[in-house]
Amino acid sequence: MIIQLDTAAPAAPIVAALAALGYKTTEVNTQYAHYLVGIGKAEVDIRRLGQLPGVRDVHHVSDDYKLVSRKWRTRPTLVDLGDGVQIGEGGLAICAGPCSIESEAQMEKVMAHLVANNVRLMRGGVFKPRSSPYSFRGLGLEGLRDFHRLARARGIKIMTEVMQVSQVEEMHDYVDVFQVGARNTQNFNLLDALGGVDKPVLIKRGISGTIEELLSSAEYVFSAGNERLMLCERGIRTFETASRNTLDLNAVPILKEKSHLPVIVDPSHGIGLREHVPAMALAAVLAGADGIVYEAHETPETAASDGQQTLDFEESARLIRNLRRVFALRNELE
Ligand code: PEP
Ligand code: MN
Repeated sequence: MIIQLDTAAPAAPIVAALAALGYKTTEVNTQYAHYLVGIGKAEVDIRRLGQLPGVRDVHHVSDDYKLVSRKWRTRPTLVDLGDGVQIGEGGLAICAGPCSIESEAQMEKVMAHLVANNVRLMRGGVFKPRSSPYSFRGLGLEGLRDFHRLARARGIKIMTEVMQVSQVEEMHDYVDVFQVGARNTQNFNLLDALGGVDKPVLIKRGISGTIEELLSSAEYVFSAGNERLMLCERGIRTFETASRNTLDLNAVPILKEKSHLPVIVDPSHGIGLREHVPAMALAAVLAGADGIVYEAHETPETAASDGQQTLDFEESARLIRNLRRVFALRNELE
């Protein structure tokens, strides 16, 4: 059960009323509102709870995740990055950029490509989770500061991966969207820490994670205080070996049905094969995605990481055009 309280209302009397009904409650204060999440089994007449002083609204939510559920917030969430860059609620967000930030020259080229194609959100890792410890692991905080400075000069917002709790604070002033990578989807300490920041968070689905587990990870961040969340389908590990991962487009309509949060699809990691990234990106739009994030680089062959799934600028420009056309088509479909 979710009880929304008036912002300044004391929670104690309502917690006591719920405890008398056998409900355990957690108080949640986000940047937007004040909630109590009640967990219990007894049948409760929510109309009676709704009459208690300070209670704004009461909802029954039967899902294990509550605050990210669409059962209480039926309207889709819009994540606003400022300066006109928005994700969700009937738009199509496009985010592109290299797997890894490599140099100023590389960033400048990507940014010029994005600006030329009217894309205002760039991805790029400075802390890279790599399967091998001998692979390039990113430029770190110094690279992030350069990324931020160059992006600000061009009106571009940036999304980059945070790998551990200690990085949240040091990265904070330089990111527009914190990305939680597939290897960290269930790093609950990191999710808790991101609940304390007033910056949007994109949570990728775990490599072997279920849809429910992704929603529960988002619930961690929301319940720790941050409502500005996005979910990302990026492929899961299956028995299939012909592609890097299996992009689960089933997750798109299912997540949209179960949650009010925007759903972003990453076809680059999802299929892992450069030549097939565009087809999967377009399919994701038709499946209902609110946004697409993919890897792009001037010369994918020389990319420091994930070159095999990275588009060059010509391929990227064509994909951007086609994404917008397919999105327009989606809006025309009945
Ligand atoms: C990435 O976005 O480059 C990345 C490492 O993604 P994932 O966590 O989905 O593997
Ligand atoms: Mn990558």
